[in-house]
Amino acid sequence: MMTEQRSGAWKLGDPALNPGDEEYFIAARNGSLLVGACRACGELHHYPRCMCPFCWSAEVELKPAAGAGTIYTFSVTRKGPDTPYCIAYVQLDEGPIMMTNIVDTDLDLVRVGQRVRLVCVPTDGDYAIPMFTPAQAE
Ligand SMILES: [Zn+2]
Repeated sequence: MMTEQRSGAWKLGDPALNPGDEEYFIAARNGSLLVGACRACGELHHYPRCMCPFCWSAEVELKPAAGAGTIYTFSVTRKGPDTPYCIAYVQLDEGPIMMTNIVDTDLDLVRVGQRVRLVCVPTDGDYAIPMFTPAQAE
């Protein structure tokens, strides 16, 4: 049985923004994914924060990620409202692992280690949410 999740089937509200979050979600609306980058230690992180989670420096900035990664782990929810859906941790090619959704695919075929690419799903409001879908055959 095919259990497909289509990003277009969701009613996505705007995220509740903390100070400094707007740039991230505006970038998503424009189709790109930003990660936090520390000017003190050079580490990248996701989700972006106002302080580096590695060295606690406040010298952080946002940098675009390529939008490609690999599924580190995932879970498919099949019962409840708006199901089925797939929550996953995706390791970006740049290194950080982010919690996200896998969309626009047969969820029965999602696998650990699968290559995925970014798809920014528009909210009903002003932003978009970065999610992932399986990459084309490599
Ligand atoms: Zn740092």
